[in-house]
Amino acid sequence: MAENTTGRIARVNPAAQARQAQTTKAPAQPKKELSQEQIIANATAPKQNDFRSATGGAYEPVLITETCHLPSRGLLYGSALGDTIELRAMTTIEERMRLSGENFWSTMAAILNRCKVNTDFDVKNMVDFDFFAALVKLRIISYGNNYRTRSKCFVCGKEQDVNVNLDECRVTELPDNFEEPFVIGPLPISGDVLECRFMRVFDHIDIYEKVTDWKRKHPKDTLNNPEYTLLMEHAIVTVNGVNLNEFQKKKYVENMVGADSSYYHDEYQELFYGLHRIGTSTCEETDCGSAVIYEIAPSENFFRATPLTNKRSKSENSEVQQDS
Ligand SMILES: [Zn+2]
Repeated sequence: MAENTTGRIARVNPAAQARQAQTTKAPAQPKKELSQEQIIANATAPKQNDFRSATGGAYEPVLITETCHLPSRGLLYGSALGDTIELRAMTTIEERMRLSGENFWSTMAAILNRCKVNTDFDVKNMVDFDFFAALVKLRIISYGNNYRTRSKCFVCGKEQDVNVNLDECRVTELPDNFEEPFVIGPLPISGDVLECRFMRVFDHIDIYEKVTDWKRKHPKDTLNNPEYTLLMEHAIVTVNGVNLNEFQKKKYVENMVGADSSYYHDEYQELFYGLHRIGTSTCEETDCGSAVIYEIAPSENFFRATPLTNKRSKSENSEVQQDS
């Protein structure tokens, strides 16, 4: 019996146990005041391994957190989220989730929901450009700020590695007093006025599932992929002040006249906020020196540490310029 109890205790965090034990102690002893020196000594004292804990106390997770500034400045979330979100680094568990996940959006949302600190806000409700900024921050604190990507010089044709410092990405923030929904229109042909909103992570999860489902059902159809129109449908809130349901939005978007459709699409694309994913660096070919365009894509090699191991020196790498 005694052995069983010990066995169970061994799997409990000793710190948590100590707290529980204190709360049942009665009456409470008046706390002894610690001097400033004692407080500092306690905080900096090396923690001894506790062999009663599951890991022997040796591998307690290190919770270093960093603050991610949201490009939306929190203007779109009411009081649910401020202008920043606190994140901790990904661990092996989250890396395993990332490698097992099929839907990029839902997998990364689940990971970000685990790595956020001090907030109940569900990141599925984030606008996509805040989400991307948070993913880049997560990449920086988990794997470092150097991101290497391949790029080809348009002038000399040389393929080359480009090292990007993710901490120096250019960001466009939402302006003061920006509100959703925002107006697009009147459209050039119909004169319709659309009220629109930004895509949330939950929109992308839904669209990804619908497109995947469509591809499974129509493996040979390369002409009618619904992704383009689904994005347009999800962004519309009202047409001429009237709220449309999902089916009505679908019909409305599908039947838009070409000029109206491209006007809406272009105006929507104009509203760019967040991290600039396209940037330029200088071609490594000595005789060339042209601008090489690169893209930051949160794909396979994004969540991976990329040490500066290619030929160029650090000082040359630091000359990488961001999109102008
Ligand atoms: Zn070149």
